[in-house]
Amino acid sequence: MHFMPFKPIGAVALAAALVLADATFEADELVAPGAWKPREGPEGWNIVETDRLHVQSQISQAKTNRLVEHVEAMVGLYASVLPARHAPRNLVVKLFEDQTSFENYGRRVPGVLAYADLSVPEIVAYDGGRLLAQRDIPARIRFAPRASVVLMPDERAAIETLFEDITDAYVHDLADSLGHEVWHLYFNAVSNGRPIPLWLDEGLADVFAPARPLGSDAPAPLDAEQLNVHRLRDVRRAVIERDTIALRALIYFDARDFARDPQLAYAMSWAFTHFLVHHEEPRRRAIVPAILKGLIDGIDPETATREVFADADIDFELLEREWKVWVRTRPLHDPLEELAERFGDRLAPEDLAAPEHWIEMYAWYVSRR
Ligand SMILES: [Zn+2]
Repeated sequence: MHFMPFKPIGAVALAAALVLADATFEADELVAPGAWKPREGPEGWNIVETDRLHVQSQISQAKTNRLVEHVEAMVGLYASVLPARHAPRNLVVKLFEDQTSFENYGRRVPGVLAYADLSVPEIVAYDGGRLLAQRDIPARIRFAPRASVVLMPDERAAIETLFEDITDAYVHDLADSLGHEVWHLYFNAVSNGRPIPLWLDEGLADVFAPARPLGSDAPAPLDAEQLNVHRLRDVRRAVIERDTIALRALIYFDARDFARDPQLAYAMSWAFTHFLVHHEEPRRRAIVPAILKGLIDGIDPETATREVFADADIDFELLEREWKVWVRTRPLHDPLEELAERFGDRLAPEDLAAPEHWIEMYAWYVSRR
C-alpha cells in the first residue's frame, strides 16, 4: 500500500488492510472489481487499454492519458529490473475522481492513497490533486483562523509562498502512488504470487515510486535514482531522534510488526533498500537482486533473506552506522523546515491550519531551532 505519513493506527486495522484477500467491504456495486468489457463501465468512466494495461478512469481524459503513459514506462522499468519470461499483460488500474468514491469502493484505512489488491488483481487509487508535479488544488497549509501572529506585509507574502512550496513538497503525487502499486502487481505477476519480505516489497515500491523520465523525448528512459523525499524526511527525523528499528530486525518484519509504527517501518524500508540498490560497492548492490532471484526460484522470504545477508558476510553494526550516515547526509530541502527556521520564533504550530502530520513535523522543526 502507499501510505502517506500519519499517526500509527491500530494494529488490527492495518493488519486487516494487509491481509488483502480476506477483507470484506461495503462495496460500491456499480464499480465491478477487475477488468471490464469495453463500453461496460459505469457512467462517467473511461477505459484505456494498452499492451500491458487496462485502465479504468473517472478522472479527465487528459490526466488519464498522462498517467497511462507514465505507468506504461514504469512497467517497462520493472521489466528491465526483473525480466519476466512472460511479460504481465492487462494490469488493471482503477482511478477514482476523489477520496470519497475511492473509499466507497474499497478500503477505508486512514492515510491510504492507493492499494494493490492481489486477490483480484488490480490497483485502486484516487486523484488527490497532484499529478506528475502539476497541482490543481489550493495550498493545504494556511494561517489558522485564530492565528495571532504579527507580521510585516513582505513577511506575510514570503510565508504564503512557503505555504505553496510546502503543499508541493508534502501532497503525494498520484504518479508516485501508481508507480508504487504497480511494483506490487508486477512482482506478484512475474513470481506467480510468491511471497516477498515486506521491507523489500515496500522498499522497492518506494525506491521506484519517484522515477521520472530523463529528458523530454518520448519515450525517455526513467531516472530511478531519485530520492523519495517523503520517506527521507521521516527517516532522517527518526535517525536524528535515535528512534529507529534495528535493520537486522526490520528485514524479518511481518505485517503485524509493520503495523506498530507503519510510518517508521515504511520510511526505513525505503531508506535501507535505496541504500543497498544504489550502493557504490558491488557486493552491497548485489544483495537485493540476489534475494529477488531466490524468491523467484521458490525460496521462502525468511530463508532467502538470511542466506543472502550471510553470504554477503554483513556486519550489521557496521552496516547500520554507515546507513545512518547515509540517511543524514542525503541532500534534502524541506520548505516546512525553512518556515520553521525563518519564522519559528513567532509562528507557533497553533497558528497554522494543515494536515496533522505537517503541523507535527513543523513543531519538531521549531523545537530544533
Ligand atoms: Zn505498498
